[in-house]
Amino acid sequence: MNKILALCSNLEKRGIETPSVCYLCHQEAECEEHLFRDCQLVSRVWIASWLGVQAQGAIYIPLKEWILNFVNKFWKEDGRESERGVWLCAILWAIWIHRNNVVFRKEEPNPYEIPRNAEELVAQEKMRLENGKANRISISRSVEEDKVSKFTFGSCGCRVCEISVDGAWKKFKWANGSRAGIGWTGRVNSVIIFKGCAMVKENSAVQHEGLAILRALEEAHAHREKKVKILTDSEVLVQALSKGTTPFQIASICQDIYEACKFFNYCEIKVDRKIVRDSHDLAIRARQGLVI
Ligand SMILES: [Zn+2]
Repeated sequence: MNKILALCSNLEKRGIETPSVCYLCHQEAECEEHLFRDCQLVSRVWIASWLGVQAQGAIYIPLKEWILNFVNKFWKEDGRESERGVWLCAILWAIWIHRNNVVFRKEEPNPYEIPRNAEELVAQEKMRLENGKANRISISRSVEEDKVSKFTFGSCGCRVCEISVDGAWKKFKWANGSRAGIGWTGRVNSVIIFKGCAMVKENSAVQHEGLAILRALEEAHAHREKKVKILTDSEVLVQALSKGTTPFQIASICQDIYEACKFFNYCEIKVDRKIVRDSHDLAIRARQGLVI
C-alpha cells in the first residue's frame, strides 16, 4: 500500500534493471495492481477463494483503495476480528510469498500454491488471536477501575517519566496533502530531561497524536526510562487504546503503541489538555519546518 515492495515497477523507479514483466503470467508489467489483483493467475485465486472476490472489474481502482474498501466493509459488517479481513490479508501475503518463491527459488507459477499458503497463514493468525485475548481482558479491567480517561500497562512506582505530547496539523490545498508536526517533552520530577519535535506525513489529526505517543515512548526507551506517563489531548486515541477496538485508520499505530509499552515496567497514557501546551508549540515548530 505504500509502494515499498521490491516489485519491478518500484525497482525501475530507482534505476535498477528488471525483467519488467510479471513473473507469474509473463504477459504484463509487474506493479502492485497487477501482481496482487489483475494478473490472470491471481484473479483466478481471488474468485476461487472463500471471499469469492471478482477482481477483474477493478482495473481502474488503485490497489490501496481496493484493499481499504474491503477491510472497511469486513470490519463494519463482521467486527474488528473479521475472519474475512484475515483471509484478505492472508491471500495478499500468500501472493507475495508465491511470487518470491518463483523469483528466488525458481518455482513454477502455480495458482494452487497461493490458497494453500493463505490457509496456513489464517490458521496461524487465528491461534495468535486466541492467545491475545487473555492479555486484552486484563487491559480493559484496569480501565474500568479508573473512570478517568486513561490507558495503563504494568504497575507504577517512584521514578516516573512524564511526557507530554502533541500533534499540529494543517491541510494545504497547494501542497497536495497535509503537513504535520509532532512534539514531545519528557520530565522527571518536573525537570525536563528530553524534548523534541519532528515532521510527519499522515492523513488525520488522530494519526498524528498516535505517532507523537509512539515517538515519546521511543524517546523514553532511548533514555532508559522504565516507567512512563504520557499526557495527550486526544481522547479518541486514549479511548481506542483502552477499549482495544481501534478505528481502522489508527489500528496499526495502536498496535505499535501496545508493542512499545512492553519495553516499560509501567506505562500510562492519559488525556490532559493543560500540560500538553509546551509540546503543542514544539509540534507547530516542526510543522513549520523548524525541527530542533
Ligand atoms: Zn501477471
